Amino acid sequence: MDRSVVTSMKVIQADITKIEVDAIVNAANSSLLGGGGVDGAIHRAAGPGLLEECRTLGGCRIGEAKITKGYNLPALHVIHTVGPVYSGSPRDAELLAACYRNSLVLAKQYSLESIAFPAISCGVYGYPMKEACEIAVDTTAAFLKDQGQGLTVWFVLFSLPDLLLYQSCLESISENATSTKKNCVDKLSRDD
Ligand code: ADP
Repeated sequence: MDRSVVTSMKVIQADITKIEVDAIVNAANSSLLGGGGVDGAIHRAAGPGLLEECRTLGGCRIGEAKITKGYNLPALHVIHTVGPVYSGSPRDAELLAACYRNSLVLAKQYSLESIAFPAISCGVYGYPMKEACEIAVDTTAAFLKDQGQGLTVWFVLFSLPDLLLYQSCLESISENATSTKKNCVDKLSRDD
């Protein structure tokens, strides 16, 4: 894994509504008309303008993403995506990966330089945190490697155990990056 990819992914324990980035991602439901959890918190902090704009979007399918302004949030935009309700089928992982990918695609389309994700589907939608974390990190790393130049991605976790889990997942990617580099160096010195 490319080192620049590893350094472009960061984790933080925080309330996502307080983060100053170009876009925060909302784990919305398909109506896009607000709900509980992080969705409710984002709508409360953004104020009524957000709901008004969301009403014009015609909802959002699972795995897809739509962008609005951030209104009273410190973030300039909100990218709304709808995670799968965890069922244990392999399709869950595809849909969750699509949430991350499509949100990142929107960020690039709008030339954003920073985006913050909550743990999509890991609350009421019941996705096991460890599995979801691996999907989030792997999907983001793959995107950044191909087309993520200039984009910093924050993973925002509400609880300390969730933060530690993400940190260890990122560290294992980072170790791979170091050992890949070392392998390359070893190979170069052998070829000399
Ligand atoms: P979903 O319906 O996709 O499961 P939830 O909002 O129920 O979404 O939860 C998604 C994750 O967001 C959970 O891990 C929850 O702890 C976390 N969360 C809830 N509120 C916030 C917040 N204000 N900032 C960051 N993360 C939050």
